[in-house]
Amino acid sequence: TQNRETLGFQAEVKQLLQLMIHSLYSNKEIFLRELVSNASDACDKLRFEALNNSALYGDDSDLKIRIAFDKDARTITISDNGIGLSRDEAVEHLGTIAKSGTKEFFSALTGDQAKDAHLIGQFGVGFYSSFIIADKVTVVSRRAGLEANQAVCWESGGEGDYTVEMVEKASRGTDVTLHLRDGEDEFLGGWKLKSIIRKYSDHITLPIVMKKEEWNQEKGEQVMTEEDETVNQANALWVRAKSDITDEQYKEFYKHVAHDFEDPLAWTHARVEGKQEYTQLLYIPARAPFDLWDRNARHGIKLYVRRVFIMDDAEQLMPLYMRFVRGVVDSSDLPLNVSREILQQSKDIDGIRSGCTRKVLGMLEDLAENDKEKYAQFWTAFGAVLKEGVGEDFANKEKIAGLIRFASTHNDTPEQTVSLADYIARMKEGQEKIYFVTADTFNAAKNSPHLEIFRKKGIEVLLLSDRVDEWVVGHLTEFEGKHLQSVAKGGLDLGSLEDEAEKKEAEKAADEYKDLIDKVKASLGDKVKDVRVTYRLTDSPSCLVSDEHDPSGNLARLLKAAGQ
Ligand code: ADP
Ligand code: MG
Repeated sequence: TQNRETLGFQAEVKQLLQLMIHSLYSNKEIFLRELVSNASDACDKLRFEALNNSALYGDDSDLKIRIAFDKDARTITISDNGIGLSRDEAVEHLGTIAKSGTKEFFSALTGDQAKDAHLIGQFGVGFYSSFIIADKVTVVSRRAGLEANQAVCWESGGEGDYTVEMVEKASRGTDVTLHLRDGEDEFLGGWKLKSIIRKYSDHITLPIVMKKEEWNQEKGEQVMTEEDETVNQANALWVRAKSDITDEQYKEFYKHVAHDFEDPLAWTHARVEGKQEYTQLLYIPARAPFDLWDRNARHGIKLYVRRVFIMDDAEQLMPLYMRFVRGVVDSSDLPLNVSREILQQSKDIDGIRSGCTRKVLGMLEDLAENDKEKYAQFWTAFGAVLKEGVGEDFANKEKIAGLIRFASTHNDTPEQTVSLADYIARMKEGQEKIYFVTADTFNAAKNSPHLEIFRKKGIEVLLLSDRVDEWVVGHLTEFEGKHLQSVAKGGLDLGSLEDEAEKKEAEKAADEYKDLIDKVKASLGDKVKDVRVTYRLTDSPSCLVSDEHDPSGNLARLLKAAGQ
């Protein structure tokens, strides 16, 4: 037809398709989870848009997902009556990848199939996973609010290009039809499809319906009837009693809300009653997403009000330093028509956010206490983000500080495993302060000349080399009554750890070397504030020290690098 256009996939899509087909083949049944998940998202989006424009429902407000198969045509069709796609949206969403973290994802690929399969999973397999089992995919979609003749037909063989064409579609929503590759006929059966749905998509809140099958004695096989049957439980998972939910179900639900492929590290599920009533189901992923460092990236919390989906990415529900948390909050108190603007000023939301924050901190404390291995995994993935909280969340500063793990001279390895409590428990008799050094790499910290006197005296020093560490020590000045002290700042006051004899010696030396010091001062001029004899060094001839209230040398370097 004349309005049919052939367009090329974005280069990244081609690369992703190739990788996916090869590395996810052993997990091919997940295509159904992805397509059902999209159908469910599309219905959520319709509900959300319809809050302000109920005309979008037309005469069909009974949202559902339908799955059908055709043995003769060798096709499977996943249909929804959700928001649908316009022609332009089909081109944009099914022809390009517009996610944050795309660049990081492609640069992380290794060429090793098993490793890359993990990476793809983390990145999100989505719609393109259809091509694992299909050699042609046809999407016919009509966006809510558009006329029947404004529907779009998108079609592709999953190689380099696809076609789009305007077509007629009687009803709103999307039909995705997979034309199966040779050898994939196992999916052309009700029993098989239902078991995949129950395994991966049971938690979907909308009904997923299929035509009922019946045993036909004459033909000796299952035949399709006209009767519909709902395959999933179709009630919100978080509303069920904890004891009625299996770990598997929690995990599958996580994959849906987080768009992740791997199991979560931990979760917490609770119903909060009292001044505010809400249910929270919050997860900690096992790995950092590709856009963790993008502070504008999607946030992971979906907001529901009395089980009606309100919005994705409700950033007011979690502080920024918990942007790795994924999950659902379902409020009983908020109005159904809440908007992002209302959320920003809502006292209810403030209450929910502090409740959720405390819940996550509690879950982390529990892991740190009872499952050190998992906590270490969490710390490796998200520790640097959690540290931001020390400056961001005054109310929970002490709790967050307790969760932080550092590298230190105790192990002298870059692994961050030492808590402030561990440090305090190992403090020397007479030691009053928690000592640390900051540098831009672990090795620079470990080899800092400022440590010499501490190593000699056997005093542990925390070795800080994450970018965020300057921020941490800028906001965390003490822990459990112990002052945090940079070893590179001020006149080193070791209190009762000091050796009187050494101090005398240094004072004597200061007199003896007065001429030398004057010469050094004169030649350095304005570059330094002062030149002093020190007893903090044992091997190095000299080191740079900042004044107690000046920025540290490391911070000054960071600021300079940032152009300030
Ligand atoms: P994701 O779901 O993580 O956004 P997908 O690859 O699964 O990524 O889907 C890409 C996009 O295609 C979706 O964000 C959505 O805009 C669009 N899309 C996919 N399936 C549907 C559908 N059934 N109805 C409407 N839009 C859809
Ligand atoms: Mg998806």
